[in-house]
Amino acid sequence: CKVLAVETSCDETAIAIVENGKRVLANKVLSQIEIHKVFGGVVPEVASRHHLEGILPLVEEALEEANCTLDEIECIAVTNGPGLVGALLVGVSVAKSLAYGLNKPLVPVNHLAGHIYACFLDNPVEFPLVALIVSGGHTDLIYMDKHLSFEIMGQTRDDAAGEAFDKIARAMGLGYPGGPVVDKRAQKGDASAIGFPRVFLEKGSFDFSFSGLKSAVLNFLHNSEQRQEAINVDDVCASFQQAVVDVLVDKTIECAKFKGVDNVIIAGGVSANSGLRKSIEKRCNEEGLNLFRPSLSLCTDNAAMIATVGYYLYKAGVRADLELNAYASMPLG
Ligand code: ATP
Ligand code: MG
Ligand code: FE
Repeated sequence: CKVLAVETSCDETAIAIVENGKRVLANKVLSQIEIHKVFGGVVPEVASRHHLEGILPLVEEALEEANCTLDEIECIAVTNGPGLVGALLVGVSVAKSLAYGLNKPLVPVNHLAGHIYACFLDNPVEFPLVALIVSGGHTDLIYMDKHLSFEIMGQTRDDAAGEAFDKIARAMGLGYPGGPVVDKRAQKGDASAIGFPRVFLEKGSFDFSFSGLKSAVLNFLHNSEQRQEAINVDDVCASFQQAVVDVLVDKTIECAKFKGVDNVIIAGGVSANSGLRKSIEKRCNEEGLNLFRPSLSLCTDNAAMIATVGYYLYKAGVRADLELNAYASMPLG
């Protein structure tokens, strides 16, 4: 069963063709990072326009790469939230047109489910599990006892983890997106140089809060500037990243213990972070938990992950009609 998936929730135009939720035949991603860099972040209107320009040629390229025709596609899966509505609507319109024109079923996919399912593409994932989604817009702990069943255990009360990376990077003039640069600089810095706060909230809570940490970094930068002290960017990055990672890893392990699961997943753009990957691997080993991580290229937005969820939804009989809409926020579960 070949699924063609369309993903346009943010600034990546992506088309993939995946067989049986497992075999990636094509995974095309057209990133707009270079375009949005000048603005220091994603400009929604600009993103929509570029999706519009890029998407149809990308469908052609994906079919060519997969060496298959539209006839061989069994269903069309599309991200319809959460994300930028104008951007999502481009993908949703294209998916509807394909489904209507080819008379194939249309399957709506939640972008965050996609991030989790990126793990299933190259790992023998088992249930029950706890998944940490850490992306540009979300920081969620999810419990799953079976496919397509999502129980939200915790989420951020303010900034998302990726958003915090992007904001402190911007304050230091490191460009957009901030995560990859901060990761690189952190590897050269001393994580114990500056004691930034770790916010754990109430005991037993699996929620997150990163705005205090972000403010602490911004204050540190501001105060250093006022006192005309040189800022060691590598040390700031390393200390900030360690503070984020400590909280993420601790809460994920606690949540896995609370639910009594043996399996842990990390997913979303920030799951590409080398500090997080190392730290959670170590803790999972110590605690006897199985850890599954997407391969690096599948951490950030792509359509292969959407095709994988699409496959399971299709098998479960989920269908959308041509009234399908796009939603800026769309909670899992
Ligand atoms: P969402 O999935 O919540 O809708 P999004 O799709 O914009 O948001 P992703 O594409 O999953 O988010 O991830 C992008 C985020 O990941 C950005 O904030 C980016 O800075 C961050 N990121 C990417 N690589 C790394 C890294 N190595 N370390 C830390 N953060 C990273
Ligand atoms: Mg992106
Ligand atoms: Fe994403």
